[in-house]
Amino acid sequence: MTIYNFSAGPAVLPKEVLQQAQAELIDWQGSGMSVMEMSHRGKEFMGIAAQAEADLRELMGIPANYKVLFLQGGASMQFAMIPMNLLRGKTTADYLNTGEWSKKAISEAKKYGAVNVVASSADGNFSYVPDFSTWQCDKDAAYLHITPNETIGGVEFDWLPETGSVPLVADMSSTILSRPVDVSKYGLIYAGAQKNIGPAGLTIVIVREDLIGQVVAGTPTMLDYKTHADNDSMYNTPPTYGIYIAGLVFQMLKRNGGIKAMEKTNIAKAGLLYKAIDNSGGFYHCPVAKSNRSRMNVPFTLKDAQLDGAFIKQADARGLLQLKGHRSVGGMRASIYNAMPLAGVEALVAFMDEFARANA
Ligand SMILES: *Cc1c(COP(=O)(O)O)cnc(C)c1O
Repeated sequence: MTIYNFSAGPAVLPKEVLQQAQAELIDWQGSGMSVMEMSHRGKEFMGIAAQAEADLRELMGIPANYKVLFLQGGASMQFAMIPMNLLRGKTTADYLNTGEWSKKAISEAKKYGAVNVVASSADGNFSYVPDFSTWQCDKDAAYLHITPNETIGGVEFDWLPETGSVPLVADMSSTILSRPVDVSKYGLIYAGAQKNIGPAGLTIVIVREDLIGQVVAGTPTMLDYKTHADNDSMYNTPPTYGIYIAGLVFQMLKRNGGIKAMEKTNIAKAGLLYKAIDNSGGFYHCPVAKSNRSRMNVPFTLKDAQLDGAFIKQADARGLLQLKGHRSVGGMRASIYNAMPLAGVEALVAFMDEFARANA
C-alpha cells in the first residue's frame, strides 16, 4: 500500500531525496564516512554547506546583501532572536495577528519591547487576513512582523504590506519554497526546516546585512545573528545532517524546474482539495475565507463531528495518514507541502468523496 503522510510537521520529504540519502548514508561520495560523522570544519562538510547555501540563493534569488544562516532552535527561537537583534535601540515593533503562530511571536516580542498589533483577525476566529487598509502601522516601529502562512489555521496571503522604511519580517516556516517571493522586499525571512525544507533541527534565517550587529544588551553570543553571520554558521557545530538533507532538497527542486514549477503543482494540488470540499454539498467545510486559503495546510470539518473518528480510522486504513486537525481547532487538516505528490491529494479526494457518499 502506498502511504501518504499529511502531517503538518515534521512532514513528508521527497522520496528521491530519501533514496539518495540512503544510498550515501554510510559512505558519502567515496569519503568512507557518513555525513553524520564528518567534522563540520572538514573540507567535505564545508563543501556540502557551501553548496546548500549557493543552491538556496539561486532558487530564491537571494540578493548578495543578505546573509543566509543555518541555525537551530526552530522558528520558536526566532520569536526571541528577532526582537533581540532587530529592535536596534527602538522601543516598539509592529506585529500582524493572524493566528496561533502570530500570537506566539507577539508574546515573545513583548519581553523585549512594546508590541503594536497592527491588525488582528481574532474577531473572525482567525479565518481571514485583515485588509491592509485597516492596519494601524507605526512608522517608527523597528520592524513589522507577519506570518504569511498560518500553519494551524490554514490562512495564507501573498501580497506585501507597504512598510516604507520599516523592515518587513516574515515567518515562512510552512510556505518557504512553495511559491516565488521577492526577497529584496524583506528585512528578514525565517523558517524551521521541518515543513518544506528538510528534517527538524535546522532553522534557516535570511537577513539583510545592515540589520545585523545591534543586539540588545545581555544577548547571549549564540542568539546574536552577527555571531553566525561572521562565522558562516560555523561558530559552533551546526545541524550538519539537516543541512545536508536540505541541500539535497534544494538540488531536487533545481532539477525539477525550481520554485515556479513547484508553485504550479501546489496550485493544482490545493485546487483539487478545495474543490472536493466546496463541492461536497456541505458534508465538508473549510472555515477560511476563499482568498486566504492556504496552499500548504488545508483545514476542514465534517458536517457531523461524530464522524471524525470513523473518517480518521478509514483514512488510516487506506494509507492516508496524519489527517487529524490541530488540537486547538479540531476537525481535519491536510498538509500538502512541496513533497506531497499530486497522487497523494488525488487519493485523499477519492476517499473523501467515497466517505461523504457512504455517510451522507
Ligand atoms: C511550525 C511553525 C512554527 C514553530 O516551529 P518550531 O520549529 O517548532 O519552533 C512557527 N511558525 C510557523 C508558521 C510554523 O508553521
